Amino acid sequence: MTLALYPGSFDPITNGHINIIQRGLNIFDKLVVAVAINVRKTPLFSAQERMDMIREAVGSDRVEVDCFEGLLVDYAIKKQSNVVLRGLRAVSDFEFEFQLAHMNRRLGAENKNGLDTVFMMTGEEHFYVSSSLVREISSFGGNVSGFIPKSVESRLLEKFKNDKN
Ligand code: ADP
Repeated sequence: MTLALYPGSFDPITNGHINIIQRGLNIFDKLVVAVAINVRKTPLFSAQERMDMIREAVGSDRVEVDCFEGLLVDYAIKKQSNVVLRGLRAVSDFEFEFQLAHMNRRLGAENKNGLDTVFMMTGEEHFYVSSSLVREISSFGGNVSGFIPKSVESRLLEKFKNDKN
């Protein structure tokens, strides 16, 4: 059984992420969608909210939703996985992802079978979708309904409505 980790901020999950998850399930037996907790970043949604939104959007018994803090290589050892799944949108994603994949492979040498990253090209209808743009557009009252699941849209509306009060 091949278990792949799909790590990210998912602040919030978008249709671009969901596309990668669905296609990832065609390749891997099981996916762990892992919300990265980064104490140096201030997310819009808490880790719990981000996990809830992922669970609401992806209802497959082959998808586990979890969160982790610290190095991905340590989390991979804990989950007994040696594959990381990442999405690539544009050339601008490439440089950082290339560096990260090499670093994880180097650091992951202690993992049984190492730690390799598999990249999946974004679905062409999602290449310009990012969580940060969705957050920004939504904060100014723009319509983001085509980029995110319904439940995420409601939570965004709620979040910014509360912020305005
Ligand atoms: P991170 O902060 O780790 O980049 P993100 O939540 O922004 O977390 O992204 C997680 C992963 O999903 C990354 O591999 C990213 O490239 C990929 N991703 C994000 N948006 C899209 C999209 N629209 N299409 C395909 N992949 C995407």
